[in-house]
Amino acid sequence: PSPQRFAALQEIHSRLPVVTPPIESLDDLWASDVFSLAKMKAALPKDIFKSVQRTIRESGKLDVSVANVVAQAMKEWATGRGALYYAHVFYPLTNATAEKHDGFISVQGDGSVITEFTGKVLVQGEPDGSSFPSGGIRTTFEARGYTAWDITSPAFLMETPNGLTLCIPTVFISWTGEALDKKTPLLRSNAAMNKQAQRLLRLLGETDVAPVNSSCGAEQEYFLIDSAYVPLRPDLLLAGRTLFGKPSAKGQQFDDHYFGAIPQRVQVFMQDVERQMYKLGIPAKTRHNEVAPGQFELAPFFEAANVATDHQQLTMTILKSTARRHGMNCLLHEKPFEGINGSGKHVNWSVGNATQGNLLDPGNTPHENMQFLLFCGAVIRGVHLYGPLLRAVVATAGNDHRLGANEAPPAIISMYLGSQLEDVFRQIKDGDVTGSTHAGVMQLGVDTLPEFPKDPGDRNRTSPFAFTGNRFEFRAVGSNQSVAGPLVAMNTILADSLAYMSDQLEQKMAAGESLPGAAFSVLKQIMTDHGNVVFGGDGYSSEWHRMAVEERGLENLPTTADSLPVLQRPEIRDLFASQGVLSPLELESRFEVYAEQYVLAIDVEAKLAVQIAQTQIYPAAMRYLGELASSLQLQTAMGLQVSPETQQKVASLSAKSMELSNALESAISQAPHGTMAHMRYSADTLMPLMHQLREAVDGLEAVVDDNLWPLPSYQEMLFIR
Ligand code: ADP
Ligand code: MG
Repeated sequence: PSPQRFAALQEIHSRLPVVTPPIESLDDLWASDVFSLAKMKAALPKDIFKSVQRTIRESGKLDVSVANVVAQAMKEWATGRGALYYAHVFYPLTNATAEKHDGFISVQGDGSVITEFTGKVLVQGEPDGSSFPSGGIRTTFEARGYTAWDITSPAFLMETPNGLTLCIPTVFISWTGEALDKKTPLLRSNAAMNKQAQRLLRLLGETDVAPVNSSCGAEQEYFLIDSAYVPLRPDLLLAGRTLFGKPSAKGQQFDDHYFGAIPQRVQVFMQDVERQMYKLGIPAKTRHNEVAPGQFELAPFFEAANVATDHQQLTMTILKSTARRHGMNCLLHEKPFEGINGSGKHVNWSVGNATQGNLLDPGNTPHENMQFLLFCGAVIRGVHLYGPLLRAVVATAGNDHRLGANEAPPAIISMYLGSQLEDVFRQIKDGDVTGSTHAGVMQLGVDTLPEFPKDPGDRNRTSPFAFTGNRFEFRAVGSNQSVAGPLVAMNTILADSLAYMSDQLEQKMAAGESLPGAAFSVLKQIMTDHGNVVFGGDGYSSEWHRMAVEERGLENLPTTADSLPVLQRPEIRDLFASQGVLSPLELESRFEVYAEQYVLAIDVEAKLAVQIAQTQIYPAAMRYLGELASSLQLQTAMGLQVSPETQQKVASLSAKSMELSNALESAISQAPHGTMAHMRYSADTLMPLMHQLREAVDGLEAVVDDNLWPLPSYQEMLFIR
């Protein structure tokens, strides 16, 4: 290796595992840094606590007098733990977590200081968030937004460089009421889904119906590499992925990493991560190696979608900061390395409540089965009608490298039910449920519905949207993404379908049909109109790519440039507006922000590719050429037979990479104006050029003297830690 790489390897060789104290008692540790309901109960007068509970249940706003008492108790708890600062934490449209820190300190008239924290500042904050992308919602004269505590997500203490900080999860809203963040639409989508789910449950004869909530368990994949490599790789440093790099001779072909023994250094890191998660009340549950070398996965136990989303953001923050403490970098990018698997985030999602339980659980009685079939049918309709939306909410520059690449679900949204459930729905579709005898219903047997598998063994890994026994698993989500967008989409399309179903049921029953008869004819209609989205075969196959589009009429949207414009379709605008989740203005702003992020991400990558190719790769290749030339000269002088093959190879690949990097450089400067045009240009012009440049550079890496090669190799980064 080159001297810089050699120094990095030496540094890595001398590293010792950073051992953290073992977890002695989970009971003591669990949620110890959370101002939990239990802590509130102990600290607050009874009537105040009751009022807080009611506000949480109804997802309402805290009364000022109540907020003052809560704030006082919260401050006492936080300052008692040594916190001098508090922060409103919010979730802008960038997938990141943002926070503004304020001191509890308050200066008195006589110059002395006290700590102060009123209900007003607990409930509402005003960060100067004008630099966050808002897609033009806020014009400059009203550039401020305010944050407001989401009382359904508890406050917690976070270790920051300036000590412990009391963190308050908030929504971020413009003064004119538009959602500037990812949490607000999530709360709204949950409310919309709750409303329609309750309506349907009551139509099904339920009288006791508790609020329905969505749940989420997100499996996080990530890579770990030693941090000594990162400063030597400007691409990793600034873009989070390698723009160049010849595949290592050994990749993932032996499957020896998957579920293998976790390397010691990583194990110690994982324990550290879990310890912090437990302190924050995040139920870390499984950890294992993933398919690619250097790739791992962490999954928590599922929680209410809103809390799970906040916890997911925290998890990503903890993974990154903890890795640094252990001398590693946690790469959350969807495709850090070519030639081996990328990282996703499977979002497991269901809906349920305290009275009827999990509504996507088949259940044991015909009545429960009926309820399940209706909710499942609603999802089928939603995924078919709004499949392109589900593609759009996972559209990022990073995720484009995964989707459709035979390691992750295709960019075509279909749905996997498992053979048994698929069969049930096919019977419903084929059964004759018209006529007074309800022949189809009888045939299928409302009272003798088949036992549904609790946990279908045949898991189809190639489907982007799979039923897994009592929930759906949305597998196309990117590892670096907030789960909020996907959850908003799933809740909203479900709300839309449930509303449709209730309308239909009401009509049919008003016309004299029985409840089971009406339910089956609604399901039959849904399967006739939308059954095309159900697919149990191999989603990776080229046959499916052809069949999905040509025979089933499903859309294949390979890139972000193809997918994001879906957000501008009239039916998507109507969907979000009718469910009260996003106004047309809010939706348009999301299109603008996400499109801009896509364009910016590729712009940064393209510039980095040019920079690395011209200032690191070309000089290395030239040095090698010089060395080759002088040694060939020497050999010729000695009268030896020489073969200039390598020299020619290096010369032609160098020329090629220089030519391509020049072409890329001028292409960057010629990017068109206008969001749509720029997105297309990024996908159709810049990406292919970057790809060609990469081929030339990776070709050079295969022939240039390793002692001259400036960039840490895949072999080093993936296998030495
Ligand atoms: P697999 O790798 O087989 O998909 P994991 O155990 O890694 O399974 O992850 C499954 C995830 O699904 C976990 O986070 C789990 O808590 C979550 N999950 C289980 N039941 C539900 C549910 N009803 N709603 C949402 N998520 C759920
Ligand atoms: Mg999974």
